[in-house]
Amino acid sequence: NLPTIYVITPTYARLVQKAELTRLSHTFLHVPQLHWIVVEDSPSPTQLVSNFLADSGLTYTHLHMLTPKDRKLQEGDPHWLKPRGAEQRNEGLRWLRQKAAADGGKGLAFESAVIYFADDDNTYSLQLFEEMRYTKKVSVWPVGLVGAMKFERPVVENGKVVRFHTGWRPNRPFPIDMAGFAVSLNLVSANPEAWFDGNAEMGFLESSFLQNLVTMEELEPKADMCTKVLVWHTRTEKPKMKREEALIKQGLGSDPNVEV
Ligand code: UDP
Ligand code: MN
Repeated sequence: NLPTIYVITPTYARLVQKAELTRLSHTFLHVPQLHWIVVEDSPSPTQLVSNFLADSGLTYTHLHMLTPKDRKLQEGDPHWLKPRGAEQRNEGLRWLRQKAAADGGKGLAFESAVIYFADDDNTYSLQLFEEMRYTKKVSVWPVGLVGAMKFERPVVENGKVVRFHTGWRPNRPFPIDMAGFAVSLNLVSANPEAWFDGNAEMGFLESSFLQNLVTMEELEPKADMCTKVLVWHTRTEKPKMKREEALIKQGLGSDPNVEV
């Protein structure tokens, strides 16, 4: 009777989407009692993601929530200009709160469930999921290859988080990457005002959510008191399409009926 881990993943259509989702799903297939909540940044569910999930072998919920145009990064914008995935994570939270409320009372399965926000391009060790599984309120751990550093992490003294190792604005309420924490579903249900602020200043998206849920003193350090890196903020290179575009001009482009 392991506590369920609800993983919320925002995702959007681009050339590498299916490759990212394939890699991610293969990690999740190794994790017991995991429920994947995939939230597409699209006006409706896409065929690609629908078919992919149906064949994935995972327990999943397929949602969608289009990012409003004024909140979306435009071609050429630096990637840090606006938060990405905020509306989609909120949609996942909305679904979970609703389900928790509907199952309330007899909600034994929810009593100990935990929520994790897993972007589609990061790299996750299997150990990470066992670290987070018994989260009481909010658990935290290091994240590798983030913030232009080898890793960021909460600094632990006498079993408590006392500050954060980060290269930038360490006095943010929670200077912690999305991949660096998990929250209990109970806590999220008990605090219906906790959402991601899609208009948050750069670097404050995680804080906008967490500051309505916990204090630094309450954080539960995992991964050997935050001494182990079990998740990496990897980013995937955008594939070059120069040859493809040249071939399209000659009518020799790759068959558009083949899903990539
Ligand atoms: N994402 C999205 N819509 C977008 C851009 C990103 O849903 O317009 C998702 C993306 O698939 C990922 C998450 O939001 O799961 C974070 O995006 P990204 O990995 O690009 O952010 P970064 O690594 O730069 O923080
Ligand atoms: Mn990313």
